[in-house]
Amino acid sequence: PYDVLVVGGGPAGASAAIYAARKGIRTGIVAERFGGQVMETMGIENFIGTKYTEGPKLAASLEEHVKEYEIDVMKTLRAKRLEKKELIEIELENGAVLKSKTVILSTGARWRNVGVPGEAEFKNKGVAYCPHCDGPLFAGKHVAVIGGGNSGIEAAIDLAGIVSHVTVLEFMPELKADSVLQKRLYSLPNVTVHKNVQTKEITGTDKVNGITYIERDTGTEQHVELEGVFVQIGLVPNTDWLAETLERTRFGEIIVDNHGATSIPGVFAAGDCTNSPFKQIIISMGSGATAALGAFDYLIRN
Ligand code: FAD
Repeated sequence: PYDVLVVGGGPAGASAAIYAARKGIRTGIVAERFGGQVMETMGIENFIGTKYTEGPKLAASLEEHVKEYEIDVMKTLRAKRLEKKELIEIELENGAVLKSKTVILSTGARWRNVGVPGEAEFKNKGVAYCPHCDGPLFAGKHVAVIGGGNSGIEAAIDLAGIVSHVTVLEFMPELKADSVLQKRLYSLPNVTVHKNVQTKEITGTDKVNGITYIERDTGTEQHVELEGVFVQIGLVPNTDWLAETLERTRFGEIIVDNHGATSIPGVFAAGDCTNSPFKQIIISMGSGATAALGAFDYLIRN
């Protein structure tokens, strides 16, 4: 069996595996797609110490760094079940069962898509999901935020300080964000809010040049010319496969303590699949290191 088995090969998993292997303990990492969300990222400007890099480049260097150590790397394999027996068992979709004394879950998350024409086509060409990452790319421009929940309204407030104008589109007749956020939003001079509207299309040629939406009460179609669209309708953790085995929030995020420990002794978690309030590469790597050190601490005590 492994001492530490990491499930997920994004920034959190790579960091956890390296920190574990550096303790000289038997370490494995199993991932569906090495690199995780980083593979979908173009420019990265907030990975501190590196002024600029690109997702596929960072993903390749994560893998290269992992391979510097004696780590069993198992790629293109998906975990489907976790069970705590004497050891912790991870069953893969191909039927194989991996056993380990401790497990670090780092299966990440994915942004929910609006699924309208133009969204996939203009991803990284005006369609963005992360205001902390891509906000500065739209300095002085007009952008839309799709989604009037907490993350959408936080994004709109954040972006209003950087861009020239923010247009918020909310499907429901009312915003769902906390009232303190709504109050702040409505106090800003460069924000327009459209409620009860359905996004129909993100338009563009080589990059985004506008958004078309339908006013749901009248059926009238409207078009706004702008340069960017931030989709903020939810970040879904990849934790469905864990079902009721361990404690998760109502959003499905794995609940961890300050050692990265979950509700199952010996099972740790890190990165975007956890209840960490902010989801970023550098934060995931930090929590991966914490979970590995937490697992090591657990091993020497048990
Ligand atoms: P992920 O990167 O999501 O990795 C999850 C890993 O788990 C993957 O290897 C996946 O294949 C694997 N996995 C999932 N389910 C299973 C399973 N059942 N079995 C086995 N393996 C599984 N952050 C920044 O700091 N700066 C940026 O500029 C930036 N830009 C971004 C742009 C985009 C388009 C996106 C989508 C995200 C961006 N982020 C950015 C956020 C950042 O990518 C994430 O916070 C970070 O990748 C989270 O790392 P993670 O390891 O927790 O999860």
